[in-house]
Amino acid sequence: MEKVHLKHEKAIKRFGVRYGRTIKRKLGLIEAQQRAAHQCPYCRYKKVSRKSAGIWHCAKCDATFTSRAYTVAKPAAVREEVTKEL
Ligand SMILES: [Zn+2]
Repeated sequence: MEKVHLKHEKAIKRFGVRYGRTIKRKLGLIEAQQRAAHQCPYCRYKKVSRKSAGIWHCAKCDATFTSRAYTVAKPAAVREEVTKEL
């Protein structure tokens, strides 16, 4: 049976057969991080969305702050998550 398609695998379908499997997969994981709702460091609600590179905004407490370009989490935690999925 075919493997179940994850959300980020669907998103990289826009590239078709181009650019290679591994690099597309990595991009898909980063893009999923960037679009996901993150936990707010101020109010702890999962309402933080990305405004632009490194700029994040919480819809709950209206806080706008800077963090990493594609995620709010610590780099070590993200690296762990990415390597787990690859
Ligand atoms: Zn907040």
